[in-house]
Amino acid sequence: MLPYQSMQEAAADLGRALTTMESVWFWYSARMPDWVLYMHIYFLLNVVFTLAPLPLVLLELNSFKLIQEYKIQPKIRLRPSDFLRCYVRVVKLLFFAIIPVQLASFPAIKFMGIRTSLPLPSLWEACSQLLVYFLVDDYVNYWLHRMLHSKWLYENIHRVHHEFTAPIGFAAPYAHWAEVLIVGSPSLIGPALAPGHMVTLWAWIILRQLEAIDTHIGYKFPFTPTKYIPFYGGAEFHDYHHNVGGQSRSNFASIFTYCDYIYRTNKGYRYHRAYTQKSKRP
Ligand SMILES: [Zn+2]
Ligand SMILES: [Zn+2]
Repeated sequence: MLPYQSMQEAAADLGRALTTMESVWFWYSARMPDWVLYMHIYFLLNVVFTLAPLPLVLLELNSFKLIQEYKIQPKIRLRPSDFLRCYVRVVKLLFFAIIPVQLASFPAIKFMGIRTSLPLPSLWEACSQLLVYFLVDDYVNYWLHRMLHSKWLYENIHRVHHEFTAPIGFAAPYAHWAEVLIVGSPSLIGPALAPGHMVTLWAWIILRQLEAIDTHIGYKFPFTPTKYIPFYGGAEFHDYHHNVGGQSRSNFASIFTYCDYIYRTNKGYRYHRAYTQKSKRP
């Protein structure tokens, strides 16, 4: 909720006219409580989770020929019921896990200093904060994922995420509810270290969800723009981790590849890549 009664009052306080984006933000959020703005994350997660994987899922279900050569594990064919089961489980999971967590974490969001006020962040401020969020989340999740591959945690929690040995976009958040809480909590460490605006937090959650879906799509397209991001893991990198399953001691990082390189947990993947490239040669 903004501490202004009108845009003129906000402009007078800022000492300049509002930008178009700031006018939109004023119109949308001026009378909305901050906790409602924070709860938008649940809505955004559902929208991104439903729409982002959908085009590829529909093409795969209709056996669209042009994409088949890019499937990383072409021998695995899932039934429509598998896609539906995955989707329904995640929607339930988001409802029962994310809503309570969001309501409980709202005081922490206020304490961190996530602001909803004007001015909106500059592109530089938002991008530099997003970079911090990605790096922190990747590093912490690398170690949490390694921990989840210990015997007890794998058998009782992480095994659910590995049910899909050939991942699909809908399987990105498919996991035990405890894993959603464990691997989801680092997404707030970055914002705690470098607190920004609520719209930056929304952008962070959307981008993180899109990245998780991208690494689970099960296809390696030659024209993906993410291949230009330095040290980005991508679908083939994470697909290998799912393909090996519970015994996997490789590719624990969820976003970038450098943690697995530094801590020598990419050996299996390097052998696998060397072998597949060798076997492709005439
Ligand atoms: Zn795993
Ligand atoms: Zn996964």
